[in-house]
Parts: sequence; C-alpha cells; structure tokens
Amino acid sequence: MSTAIVRIVSELRSIVAAWRREGLRIAVVPTMGALHEGHLSLVRAALAKADRVIVTLFVNPRQFNNAADLAAYPRTEHDDAAKLASVGAHILYAPSAADIYPQGFATTVSVAGVSEGLCGTFRPGHFDGVATVVTKLLLQSGADLAFFGEKDFQQLHVVRRLVRDLDIPTEIIAGPTMREADGLAMSSRNARLSLAERYRAPHLAEILVQTARDLISGASVQRALTDGREAILAAGFSKVEYLELRADSDLAPMLIVDRPARLLVAAWLGETRLIDNFQVALPRAAALHQAAA
Ligand code: AMP
Repeated sequence: MSTAIVRIVSELRSIVAAWRREGLRIAVVPTMGALHEGHLSLVRAALAKADRVIVTLFVNPRQFNNAADLAAYPRTEHDDAAKLASVGAHILYAPSAADIYPQGFATTVSVAGVSEGLCGTFRPGHFDGVATVVTKLLLQSGADLAFFGEKDFQQLHVVRRLVRDLDIPTEIIAGPTMREADGLAMSSRNARLSLAERYRAPHLAEILVQTARDLISGASVQRALTDGREAILAAGFSKVEYLELRADSDLAPMLIVDRPARLLVAAWLGETRLIDNFQVALPRAAALHQAAA
C-alpha cells in the first residue's frame, strides 16, 4: 500500500470528511519526521485501534528555542514516506510552515503547571510551541485518537492537559519508549552522535535504571539523585540539565516514593542533548511501608 502525501489542510479535511461518512475511526500520530522504530511503534498501535491513520510530519519552528538545533534537524521525507507505506499508514500530512503559521498568526496555546520545570526550564518557549502546534494538528485532523510516546513524558502531560482544558474531542493514547538493543532511547537526534558518543549514550538509560533500583531499595530521593547526576558526568556526559523524580500521574515533585513515580533526565553528550525517563514503581508492600513512615 502506498501512503498518500497531503500538504494542504482543506485536502486533509475533505478526505477525513469522506472517512467520517463511512463511519471510520481515525487516528493521528504527530511527528517531526526522521522516523524510527519509536515513531513506527506508535503508528502500529494506531493502526490496531483505528480504521485510518494520519501521520503528521512537521518540523515545528516554534518549539525550537535554538536556531542551530532547528537547522540541524534531520529532514528525510522520502524515506519517511516509504517507512509509513511499509507499515500501512494511510496519509502522511506534511504541511509547510507558511500554511501552519500564515501571515498574521497571533495565537499561542500555553499550558501552565505541567509545562514548568524540567524541559520547560531549559527550553524556554518550547512547550508553548508544542501545545500550539498539537492543538492545530488535532483540530485540523479531527482525529478520534492521537498517539504520543512516553519518551517525551512531559510533552505527554502537556498534551493531555490541553486536550482536557480545551475540550478537544480526541483521546490521547501513550506508547512506551522504544530503545536500541543497548538500551538507548530511540531519537531522531541520535544520528548526530559521533561513534564515541554513541558508545557512551546508553549509560544514560543504565543510570536511570540503577537510580530507580536505589530508590526501590530505600535510598533517599536526594541521595539517589545526587549519585545519579554524578554517575552521568562520570560516564562522559558534558552536562546534566536535570535529573528529577516526579509523580507519574501529574509530574508533581516527590520527596519520597509513596506512589508511582518517574525519573526524568536531560543531559548533553558533546553537542547533542538527550532526554529519557524511567518509571519507578515500588512493590506494594514497600509503598505502604514508606507511606506509613
Ligand atoms: P518527534 O518526531 O521526536 O517529535 O516524536 C514524535 C512522537 O514520537 C512523539 O509522540 C514522541 O514521544 C514519539 N517518540 C519519539 N521517540 C520515541 C521512542 N523512542 N519511543 C516511543 N515513542 C517515541
């Protein structure tokens, strides 16, 4: 099957309207392209739950707070279209920046709370850009379901919040983080790593797993996070932006692990910024014990 490429929102809307007349269930998977198995896992999950799947490809200038990062972002539309055809996506929607943000565009969707801290601190304006474009893509596609990866865990919370707050009738479904065989979370930015950096990069996930183990075996949150930060630097990362423990359900900071939690990290390896996260789930007995302490 080939995947139709659509660039204009009016065309997208008329295809979607025809699908609706047939009573079909529609899913959307927003991406910035340079597709890898992480993206494709979301497309497969979407195909399992919907009759028609739209994958959007838009390298959103408003979510880049760094011009060099935007310029260096990989653009591989031809290969992306071939990958989508091989998994059976129905439409690749790849609008231009001028169509998404026409002359005079003046609206920003800004989500308080979950956008603050973590990446929100180190990438000012990033989540406003994400929230604005995701709102547009959900409204343009009119999808029943939208799929997002846990790899971008804070983004997932931002999207869930805006959909609730703006009454957008799209169900948000999360997919697990896909990893390389050595544990490195798949990312379009991994292609920028030198061979030596690529060799070191999986330490980030290993350290998250170790930090989660330390927490589960009773280390204090402060101790575990300090050790984790030191381990990341010792593994050859140049800078740790943050390593934090937050509540899985709402990203609230956590001082003790008394409910499901997430370790979230952003660190630089040379010129490349990597993010990852890992769930910390206490065995039930330990959770009860800690809550009672
Ligand atoms: P991006 O193209 O980086 O904007 O990502 C598009 C979507 O794919 C987002 O919902 C991401 O969270 C998701 N994604 C990116 N990398 C992965 C991964 N390794 N595993 C699962 N989902 C991912």
